Amino acid sequence: MSNFDFDLLTIGAGSGGVAASRRAAALGARVGLVEDDRVGGTCVLRGCVPKKLLVYASEYASALVDAVGFGWEIGEHSIDWGRLVEAKDRELKRLNQIYLRMLEGSGVSLIRGRGEVVGPHEIRVGDERYTARNLLISTGGKPSVPDFPGAELAMTSDEILSHESLPRRLVVLGGGYIGVEFACIFARVGVRVTQLIRGDQILRGFDADVRSHLEEEMRATGIEIRSGAQIAALRRGESALEVTLVGGEVLEADLVLAATGRVPNVAGLGLEAVGLEQGPRGEIVVNTRSQTSAPSIFAVGDVTDRVNLTPVAIADGRGLAESLFGARDFEVDHQGIPTAVFSQPEVGTVGRTESEARAQFERVDVFKTKFRPMRHTLSGRDSRVMMKLLVDKDSDRVVGCHMVGDDAAEIVQAVAIAMKGGATKAQFDATMALHPSAAEELVTMREPSG
Ligand code: NDP
Repeated sequence: MSNFDFDLLTIGAGSGGVAASRRAAALGARVGLVEDDRVGGTCVLRGCVPKKLLVYASEYASALVDAVGFGWEIGEHSIDWGRLVEAKDRELKRLNQIYLRMLEGSGVSLIRGRGEVVGPHEIRVGDERYTARNLLISTGGKPSVPDFPGAELAMTSDEILSHESLPRRLVVLGGGYIGVEFACIFARVGVRVTQLIRGDQILRGFDADVRSHLEEEMRATGIEIRSGAQIAALRRGESALEVTLVGGEVLEADLVLAATGRVPNVAGLGLEAVGLEQGPRGEIVVNTRSQTSAPSIFAVGDVTDRVNLTPVAIADGRGLAESLFGARDFEVDHQGIPTAVFSQPEVGTVGRTESEARAQFERVDVFKTKFRPMRHTLSGRDSRVMMKLLVDKDSDRVVGCHMVGDDAAEIVQAVAIAMKGGATKAQFDATMALHPSAAEELVTMREPSG
């Protein structure tokens, strides 16, 4: 019989920590889970879920405009942002309760407070100390705001999700996932949005066609995207916030969102005390089995800064529990992870970008199409769908799929299954089209464009 209090003691009740703890408990382990906030983590409380609810809300704005082309008479309408935020918060409360019930039901002991690692098998929470055969750190990430005078006047995604009124003018700093998604949500509901990008284009790391196509579409919805633009200072003026750019220009805004990346949440965890290896951004370095430089300490999720997406944290958490307490050694495959940006229109992407494919394979065929979806023939909206397949010519395998357009996330999730199975372009071609749909273009593109 072990002398440890627990078999697994997890710090951080977000997606990864909860998934690992529940799976471990289901496999018979004695599990403790330390959390000083509500259970659910970034995704449920401050990320994917509340953001997607706001995306849904904003979609009605364009749907109402588009409906006129289909014969609808639309009268005066407006959004009550405060009521939306209230409804969203009610839903988050409900989800939080479900998470709590699931944890209770699975036999995981929830320990309230801030956990600090004090040894390879020991955590301190307030005045209490707990021991465990294995420790798991799953404390996620937090917004990172660059250092400029007045930075404290900018909101991050944490705060903007709960802001109860709509600004008239919003300045967004950053052109990553969060910057793009919030720029689109607010622009759709009528806010004047200016997005400042320090580089040339939004969404660094995405396929070049995705970046330029989405940028065009966003500009068409009225978002002003300013490339090569950096904030120098922010101050509260008489009637508005004043954003001074490097170069001296001053923009006025009612709200400034800093969406300038996220960093691993490691402050106060005591990692130095146990000498855990950390990377340049503070991330906990782990091997493919999520094991840190201390053999009894593991880490999953954004705190490891691998692929910072909820389903990856969940898979790594469950995989770890299986390895520690299940019958098999489990290594999670991080290849071919689909991802979406819930912009207007949406981006869905899986596999390599064109430049990655060209670097990896000798001969690459690019199949690309841009078209006006049927919905917009009557709506009158000047919006195009972009789809792109990348094929390794030697094996005929589809190695990348990128889409900008309505439902891109839903469509690309299904394509990711085919790609995981090693689907070839010939198999895409042999698949019957589903008509009329936008997705059918994926199986009807015949001529490579490059
Ligand atoms: P990203 O890393 O995606 O983007 C950060 C943006 O901020 C980039 O445009 C970057 O510019 C810019 N930036 C960084 N530092 C500075 C600076 N000092 N001054 C000016 N600009 C700066 O971070 P996000 O905050 O958008 O998102 C964080 C992570 O959260 C994502 O990477 C993703 O893993 C996850 N996420 C996933 C979502 C989804 O799946 N739909 C939604 C939201 C978040 P540059 O490109 O030049 O570096």
